[in-house]
Amino acid sequence: MNDQALLDPHSTLREFLAQSDFMRHGAVMTDLDGTAVVEENGRAYVSVPMETGLKRMHDLGRAVVINSLRFPLSIIRTFGKAWYQITGAPVPVVSMRGSQCGRMVLTKAGAIGFEEIEAICLEPENIRAIVAGASALVDAGANELLIFFYPRDWTRGEIIWTPDPTRAQGVVSKYRSASQVISGGVQILERALRKEEVCMVFQLLDLPEDRAMAYQHTHRNSFFTHAGVDKHYGAQRIAKHLGLDLLHSIGAGDSPMDDFLAGVGLAVIVGRLQLEYRGRLHTVRIRDSLALGTLLYSIGELGSKVGARK
Ligand SMILES: [Mg+2]
Repeated sequence: MNDQALLDPHSTLREFLAQSDFMRHGAVMTDLDGTAVVEENGRAYVSVPMETGLKRMHDLGRAVVINSLRFPLSIIRTFGKAWYQITGAPVPVVSMRGSQCGRMVLTKAGAIGFEEIEAICLEPENIRAIVAGASALVDAGANELLIFFYPRDWTRGEIIWTPDPTRAQGVVSKYRSASQVISGGVQILERALRKEEVCMVFQLLDLPEDRAMAYQHTHRNSFFTHAGVDKHYGAQRIAKHLGLDLLHSIGAGDSPMDDFLAGVGLAVIVGRLQLEYRGRLHTVRIRDSLALGTLLYSIGELGSKVGARK
């Protein structure tokens, strides 16, 4: 990424639009937290500039695909209504680190729901490894361990397991997004994970980093999906279903989890983190989600000029 791209993302955008076939085969793919949505006082929302940018994309007939770690029910509860109202059309979603693709839709009853396009779930051997890891941590005395898991059935939401029944109430109050908290021995966890198809597991040692270090070779947080499944994988799958070409698309993300940035033509890095990903044609950096909204909005003008010239 050269300094010019840092200083003037709009000129790079203009170049990308002239070079690519964005207006015919492209889309915008965006991460949510830290990228497309702002968080203030613990509440995440879509900013006004971003709203304007989304509307503009809709008017231009370009899809905006959400690619988030969040599970569908969490996306629906936090931004579902707002996002749907902006575009008034089903919203393509890659959720849970690429493990489930689908669409946020308006149900007959007027609520926002989710329709799966496809999912790739954890295999019995993945579950075995997760349970063995949890078992070793519990044996080492890590009672603060929490396992979050996300069934394929999106209506089930998020379920959390704690090995320690005395902590269950605390977990319920701390993690309000959870549909259910279960507690007890590792065999309870194992039974729950084997009972239904699970897309993603998140392991969290709910302690400060220095204390978590005591449990060797353990990261404080780890995500588990089927081998080879990440946000980039999900991006490729949904692109295939929607008939999009990632090379002609714009991707926006803010963290190392946003590996799909390496698959798109124009990668937009939001915020200050140094990421290794580079877009296949261009890479730019912008300040925040407000700047992302402004950038998307400007595609209207740049895109139509470019389109007219072709
Ligand atoms: Mg993010």
